[in-house]
Formats: sequence, structure tokens, C-alpha cells
Amino acid sequence: MATQLPEDRAESVFEDYKPAYNALQATAEANRCLYCLDAPCITACPTAINIPEFIRKISTGNVKGSAKTIFESNILGMSCARVCPVEVLCVGDCVYNEMDRPPIEIGKLQRYATDIAFEKGWKFFEAGAPTGKRVALIGAGPASLSAAHRLRRFGHAVTIYEKRDVIGGLNTTGVAPYKMKADRSIEEVEWLLSIGGIEIHTGKEVGVAPTVAELEERFDAVFFGIGLGPDKHLGLPGEDLDGVLGAVDFIEQMKLQALDLQGASRAVVVGGGNTAIDAVREAVGVGFKHVTMAYRGDEKKMSGYQHEWKAGKLEGVLGAWRTQPIEYVGKDGHVIGVRCVKLDADKKPIEGTEHVLPADLVLVAIGQSKLLDALNNLEGVEMDGKKVTVDKHGATGRPGVYAGGDLANGAKEVVNAVAEGRDAAEAIHRYLMGTEEAADA
Ligand SMILES: Cc1cc2nc3c(=O)[nH]c(=O)nc-3n(C[C@H](O)[C@H](O)[C@H](O)COP(=O)(O)OP(=O)(O)OC[C@H]3O[C@@H](n4cnc5c(N)ncnc54)[C@H](O)[C@@H]3O)c2cc1C
Ligand code: SF4
Repeated sequence: MATQLPEDRAESVFEDYKPAYNALQATAEANRCLYCLDAPCITACPTAINIPEFIRKISTGNVKGSAKTIFESNILGMSCARVCPVEVLCVGDCVYNEMDRPPIEIGKLQRYATDIAFEKGWKFFEAGAPTGKRVALIGAGPASLSAAHRLRRFGHAVTIYEKRDVIGGLNTTGVAPYKMKADRSIEEVEWLLSIGGIEIHTGKEVGVAPTVAELEERFDAVFFGIGLGPDKHLGLPGEDLDGVLGAVDFIEQMKLQALDLQGASRAVVVGGGNTAIDAVREAVGVGFKHVTMAYRGDEKKMSGYQHEWKAGKLEGVLGAWRTQPIEYVGKDGHVIGVRCVKLDADKKPIEGTEHVLPADLVLVAIGQSKLLDALNNLEGVEMDGKKVTVDKHGATGRPGVYAGGDLANGAKEVVNAVAEGRDAAEAIHRYLMGTEEAADA
């Protein structure tokens, strides 16, 4: 299935923020690895890639073997090499940090091996002998894709239903383009699908058509990988003015289409998490000259990664701390500013501090809502806030119904969704083949 994206989409102006290694650089870096026996980098990786093994293979010139080691644990290893926050995962736990020496650049080495695998068109896995069992997966994001690939290796027939026209989930529609652009994510999905026998139906919203009951009737097991819902909003006056958007919504537009941003010069992003930081950097990248992040807490306490925020500051973004929006100000139906008030240390408004931050664009990045309609009223499926409750194998309380990724973990990273999809596929396999108890013992 070839998905065509417009060449002139707004994200095309971004360059990769981490330059790729050439063969010499990769070999030199691989040779620094200590190949630790109890490698903490493996424990820090949610997919538990055998990192010293893939690095050793690079150092001996066995790039194909290295890529195979990566994909065996993480079939989205190419995109994870680009999008994983390695600073707080494998690289953050490399033993070199304790010696005050630069940690091994694991992400760049993983990218080196997996990029070569893609360039050369290497394929590593084949579908298993048909079992006669059928599994439906809902959503074509990292969780479902990882599950689908593993299920095909076991020989089950697999069908994915995706409500959007594009595949890849947030890896295609959400990830910052300086890490990975949408076409690269789609290329990865197509590579994954080359195992054969994974049917994908796009433009199909499960819950509307087909219904979950229909899927349960036609399939032996169902996996939910539907992620989270649309951006949350603050419910302030002026919310429906042109130019007030949810950040994830704006990022999706920027990644998939051309945008007319002529004359736009000031952007305000509301929030202090990773989506807010991505959004400020993306606003700078698409041409906004004055970009401010308005956050109700302190700079040091924001939930977004400090290393990403530091990069934003270097790009000229300003932070407005302890700043609470109270109204979007408009003119002729378009936003022209955000009225804010300053907060004290207890998050109480400070009298006399009202002010307006001028803005042609306001992006609200205060989290995504839950997306559980498709799962509502399913007997045996329990919800905990915005998450679906699952056991350590991704099983809900309803026989044959599994879930993984953002909707089950409450929003983590791509690599967590990949791990949870893979592990749920293993559990589904045991369920379908009647070996569940043996694995749980
Ligand atoms: C702006 C942003 C930037 C991010 N950047 C990074 C990053 O740099 N690095 C990183 O590791 N993580 C990042 N993340 C997090 C990461 O993208 C998610 O953790 C990951 O994509 C979750 O995968 P998933 O498969 O659970 O869900 P998703 O990727 O959300 O995929 C769910 C899919 O299900 C589809 N769907 C929903 N409902 C239905 C339905 N009823 N029927 C059919 N299909 C349906 C959706 O259209 C979507 O394609 C980012 C998240 C956001 C919001
Ligand atoms: S912790 Fe660092 S040095 Fe040790 S195996 Fe992992 S990458 Fe190599």
C-alpha cells in the first residue's frame, strides 16, 4: 500500500537534528563499548534490545547481523533509533556516565545499522505456517504494528483497522520532524508489512463501522492499539477563534500538508510537557519569529525533558513561567493574544498581574483526552482514568481482548508501545494455541 504525502508539506523545511554516522565514525564509537555483562543499557530499553551484542557486531563489520539483533526485539528499531529519548533511557544508563566520560551514542549506532538495512532492502523475518486463527488489531500505530508483525511470525492471519487515511499512528502524524518526517515512518510501516499477510483497512473507525461486536464475531482475538484522543482544551473564552488550536492537531497538519502561515510572526504555546516543547521548536522551524511557552509551573518543574527544552531555548524560544491563560483575545474572528495572569508559588493568581501575550497562533498542549468510546460497555473491560486496565501481558478482563500502547500505559513513548504490542502478541498466541497457563506459571 503506497501512501502519497504532498512534497510541499510544512515539515519538509526541517533538517535532522542529529547527523548520521558514517562507517568510520560508527566503528570508532562501537569500539568504545565495554560490552558490559550486566549491561544496564539493556535494562533501560523497554524492548530490551541486546545493545552490547548489536554494537559488537558493528565493530566487527557485521552490520546485517547487528540490524537483525535490533529488529528481533524491536521491529520499529529504525524509527526508535531516531525518536527514542535515549538520554533518559539506554544512553542515560550507560556505565560511562558514572566514569564522567561521554556515554556510548547507542541511538546513533542503532540508526547506522537500521538505515543500512533499509538502504539494502534486507528482510529478516518470514510469516509462520498458517494456524487458521484470525486476529483483528485496531489502530495502525506502533503498538498494533508491532503486535501484527509478531502475530504473523506465529502464522496467524492479521487484519488492522485504522480510522485515518495514513498509517503509523503518532510516529507518522506526531513525532517532531527534526527527529523523523512522516514519509520515513510510512516507509518503515511498508517495510514491516513486507512480511506479507497483514491486511490493512484505512478509513475504518472501529466502534462506528465495524463495531467491536462484529470483530469479536469474525476474529479469534482482538487487540486495541488506539492511543489517546484529541487535544484537551482549557474551556476559556475565545477558544473558537481562528488560530487557537490543539498542539497535536497543529503538528499533524504541519506533518501532512502545506500550511499558509504568511504574515504570522508570534506564537504562544500553552503547557510544559514534551508536546509543548516540540510545538515551540516546530513553530520556530516553520517561521514564527517570536515564540513563547506559557506554563503555569516553574521552569525546573516542567514535565517536558530538560535536554529538549534547552534546545528550544537555544533556538530563541522564551518561557513565561507561573503564567496562567484566562482568555484568548481576538479581532475580526482571529486570535491576537492570550490574556494571562501570574501565579504565586501555591498556583494562586496574583492580583494586578494580568497581561496579554501577543499571538497570531495559540497552541494548547495540555494533554490528550481519552479515546475509549470503542471500549465502553464491553463487559470485563475496566478503565482506570484515561487508561484501559490490562495485566502484564496486555490482557483485559474480557477473554480474547487485549490492549497496549498509549491507551493502556497512559501515554509513554513509541518504544513502550512497541514492547507492549509485541508482548501482547506473544500472549495472544498462547491464548489461541491454548498454552496460556504454561506461560503464566
Ligand atoms: C506530539 C507528540 C510527539 C511525540 N514525540 C515522541 C517522540 O519523539 N518519541 C517517542 O518515543 N514518543 C513520542 N510521542 C509518543 C508516541 O508517539 C506514542 O507513545 C506512540 O505513538 C503510541 O503508540 P500507539 O500505537 O499506542 O498509539 P498511536 O500512535 O496514537 O496510534 C493509534 C492509532 O489508532 C488509530 N485509531 C484511534 N481510534 C481508532 C478507532 N476507533 N478505529 C480505528 N483506528 C483508531 C489512530 O488514528 C492512530 O493511528 C509523541 C507523542 C505526541 C502526541
Ligand atoms: S552500558 Fe554502555 S558500555 Fe556498557 S554495554 Fe551498554 S552501551 Fe556498552
